[in-house]
Amino acid sequence: MDPRVRALQHVLEKLPGIGERTSRRLVRELLSHRSLLRELMEALEAVDRHLSVCTRCGGYTGTPPYCEICRQEDRLSVLVVVAEPEDVWALDALAPERYRYHVLGGVLNALEGIGPDSLNLAPLRTRIPDEGIQEVVLALGGTFEEQTTAYFLLDWFREHFPDLRISRIAVGLPMGREVGEADEETLREALIHRQPFDPEASS
Ligand SMILES: [Zn+2]
Repeated sequence: MDPRVRALQHVLEKLPGIGERTSRRLVRELLSHRSLLRELMEALEAVDRHLSVCTRCGGYTGTPPYCEICRQEDRLSVLVVVAEPEDVWALDALAPERYRYHVLGGVLNALEGIGPDSLNLAPLRTRIPDEGIQEVVLALGGTFEEQTTAYFLLDWFREHFPDLRISRIAVGLPMGREVGEADEETLREALIHRQPFDPEASS
């Protein structure tokens, strides 16, 4: 096999969900459709060149330093906290109102060595007071790691901002599923019917 083809195959295998078999199929497809190959190259290059991280919320932006959402100062004083940048797009597209967002950049995972220091929490210390945030909605899914992170965040917010209202989307989100895996209607319902996050009250 040509070493360049082998290299391409190896890169593809680093992507989640792509094993040796799939990467071989993808390479075959790309080599036999050069226009597709070029289209992919251009798309990758455009994303690499123009997409960076919003310094306020941690989401993606093509207009640094802030993203399109953070530029809209008239949004509600409700801050929706999500795990990954793409969750912002998913939720904002279907949210019933114009909320603000904050991206953690992952969830706690002891096995992978992801602790609280790895989460994008520092900007929240200024965001909450500066933007007059009244309510934080934890929009995390039902996996073990996401639930653990939600409880950690509850303590974190209570410690730093005792007066803040904290709620979470829970209704309808299946246990063991990530936010990004839920269908639009479920996610929308989960956001609308968010509940106060108060473990003592519910036990
Ligand atoms: Zn932003």
